[in-house]
Amino acid sequence: MTADRLTNFIDGEPLSNQSGETFAVINPATGEQLYEVEVADEFVREKAIESARRGFAVWSATPAKERARILHRAVALLRENNDSLANVEVLDTGKPIQEASEVDVATGADVIEFFASLSPTQVGQQQEVDGDFYYTRREPLGICAGIGAWNYPLQIACWKSGPALAAGNAMIFKPSEETPRGAVELARVFIKAGVPRGVFNVVHGEGEVGQWLTSHDQIKKVSFTGEVGTGRKVMGSASETLKDVTMELGGKSPLLVFEDADIEEAVSAAMLGNFYTQGEVCTNCTRVFVQQSIYDKFMDSLLERTRNNIIAGDPTDPDTNFGALISEEHLELVMSYIEKGKQEGATVAIGGERIKPDSAPDGYFVAATVFTDCTDDMTICREEIFGPVMSVLTFDDENEVIKRANATPMGLAAGVMTTDIRRAHRVVSKLQAGICWINSYGASPAEMPVGGYKLSGVGRENGIETLHHYTQTKSVYVGMNKLEAPF
Ligand code: NAD
Repeated sequence: MTADRLTNFIDGEPLSNQSGETFAVINPATGEQLYEVEVADEFVREKAIESARRGFAVWSATPAKERARILHRAVALLRENNDSLANVEVLDTGKPIQEASEVDVATGADVIEFFASLSPTQVGQQQEVDGDFYYTRREPLGICAGIGAWNYPLQIACWKSGPALAAGNAMIFKPSEETPRGAVELARVFIKAGVPRGVFNVVHGEGEVGQWLTSHDQIKKVSFTGEVGTGRKVMGSASETLKDVTMELGGKSPLLVFEDADIEEAVSAAMLGNFYTQGEVCTNCTRVFVQQSIYDKFMDSLLERTRNNIIAGDPTDPDTNFGALISEEHLELVMSYIEKGKQEGATVAIGGERIKPDSAPDGYFVAATVFTDCTDDMTICREEIFGPVMSVLTFDDENEVIKRANATPMGLAAGVMTTDIRRAHRVVSKLQAGICWINSYGASPAEMPVGGYKLSGVGRENGIETLHHYTQTKSVYVGMNKLEAPF
């Protein structure tokens, strides 16, 4: 790429398109254009497939131990370049450098490291049957597609490519059009580490390019991260060619704060799960249910900490802990939800407006917002907002809150804050959510499978089981007895 133009990255190098079509990427903290991106036209798409076919042939024939060594080199490069990669993420997403330099690159590298280490552990089974025997082989799928969202661009690219490449597949990755650079930086890292050309290609564009990937008959699997509505389209399109799919979608997750909880920790969980990454996290606990008897204490602390501890501003300043929303359009969407909350009778306890911090006056900032006097049927308590908007609700007893927490078509995550160990596990066993935290919120280590129940997803990312989603089983029957035939 030149300083102001990003191309597709195919077969180990930048590839210019022939159509000349581009789109702009905007820095959310300044509103200014960062660079232009070339759309993957027919020419680029064809090259991407051809190259991935060649890449897959080489990579799938590379011994697993060697694949592991190469991927471990990529991990080392990611960690060595942590700060410059974190900076790319800050410019593209508007999130604070404080977060990106600690979390984004590190958790991406952790996942590639985890799957690289598992790469040589793919064993089959063998069994004797009636004097004959069979054995199984776990074989890669072929060319897989990854399609990413804009909130954790590099991390999502790592979480998808890690298991795919460890299992011997090639991947064509389409980052979100709002944050396309992180995936190209990852592609460069893979090449530098020794991953063969074509094993990880990056194509750019909007939904139409994603749609091309999901419908292509040479692509065997799609791993998608994004909204429920887009997920439906992706799965529908993938069904035409019967592709395997992994769907990491949205949520409307509950946090259950019981009266025996440590109040300050409960407030920490609620703030982490609503204001981290300025609220643009899929697992956010946007419905905070607080037991009536501790409601006043909880609110006093929540409002005091929200008023005094949030530092919104230039995301490149290490003191900033609250960044800009991804785009003006998204800011307007978040503001429209806040208006709806007010209209439907909720009370803005704090925030509720667009802000213009001195250090970033043109950025797309919405204040950390807390609504009280909420009811379960309000729009803000039902729909994913994907911004810093928390709704606080109250409850009286355990069965009631479990029922209300589960009364959503989504089921990505949930949190339980209590010091009663039996209550914690009893409640978690009844929550309809793929990821549950007890006295914690948001941690997602490489070792732990993550994914949604209900409309929040299909399949899992991370954890050992994910590797199986990137392989298929071949059964080989071996005749040791003389073969008889009635003919
Ligand atoms: P989005 O659904 O608008 O876009 C996601 C990706 O899909 C983008 O790359 C986009 O270009 C592409 N796309 C759009 N239309 C397509 C189509 N028809 N076919 C194929 N691809 C298409 O989501 P977003 O706004 O980028 O991200 C925010 C959403 O992502 C939120 O709902 C959030 O909860 C979810 N998310 C989920 C997880 C998770 O792990 N569960 C993680 C991060 C974000």
